[in-house]
Amino acid sequence: MRVVNTIADMTRLRAAFGAETLGFVPTMGYLHAGHLSLVRQSVAENKCSVVSIFVNPMQFGPSEDLERYPRDLERDFSLLKPLGLDIVFVPDVGEIYPPAAQHGTTVTVYGPTERLEGAMRPGHFTGVATVVAKLFNIVRPTRAYFGQKDAQQVAVISKMVSDLNFPLDVIACPTLRESDGLAMSSRNVFLTPGDRATAKFISGGLFAAEALWQAGERDAAVLESVVRESLRRGNFVNIDYVAVVDPLTFDPYTPGSTAALIAVAARVGTTRLIDNILLSCVSRL
Ligand code: AMP
Repeated sequence: MRVVNTIADMTRLRAAFGAETLGFVPTMGYLHAGHLSLVRQSVAENKCSVVSIFVNPMQFGPSEDLERYPRDLERDFSLLKPLGLDIVFVPDVGEIYPPAAQHGTTVTVYGPTERLEGAMRPGHFTGVATVVAKLFNIVRPTRAYFGQKDAQQVAVISKMVSDLNFPLDVIACPTLRESDGLAMSSRNVFLTPGDRATAKFISGGLFAAEALWQAGERDAAVLESVVRESLRRGNFVNIDYVAVVDPLTFDPYTPGSTAALIAVAARVGTTRLIDNILLSCVSRL
């Protein structure tokens, strides 16, 4: 496993891989088992694999947690080493956004960015799409692996890849959870034991909605109210949204469409958590 810090080195090593399949897993580091499951899938499905670790300032709003985002590169390297990947690409901010260039070009995806995370975090998805487009051009993967945990991000990146003709497949991978159901996240490190006891009511509500869906319930308001009820039992005060949406467009779910996703964002203590469950399969995801 080689650690590469510059675009020049990454480009040179990428060229040496030639036409072999190359799997790519973009991350912001502070890795957990969810990230590692993406890496394992990439290693299993491709001749070569690259993981990037880059905390992307462009996707954080001015009042968000860029400064306190957890970082521990040595720990990340030791978790990645046994997995058999080829390269960890760890550029610094100046490498990706050189000050002299006054980075003036961004990628904005319309459609799936309008609601939920897009509405709560203005500019977030432009930051995500811009850095992912840059990383795709630098790493030139055959397949790129993203977690369904960030379902709206999967929809945004899939649309960008389709609209801008990136020659690669986006692979959406299942959400890994703690034993109490909490979706794994680098930000879980900020949760106190009390926060953890509260946080599990997010997945609890999602599982209850999923059970209702499987029993035939198709009324979005009913499905959403089951999740809200669970959050109430967990004494959540700050709920950003609970919504049933189409998993590709993120438009509100309309009865009759076969695919649906129920998504939640809520704050516990000082930490904002997001989670979702696909209520039925979507062939493109
Ligand atoms: P991040 O470092 O948070 O940007 O995440 C990097 C990638 O890992 C993204 O594609 C995430 O969706 C994915 N990911 C994060 N948490 C999980 C999880 N609990 N299970 C599976 N994938 C995840």
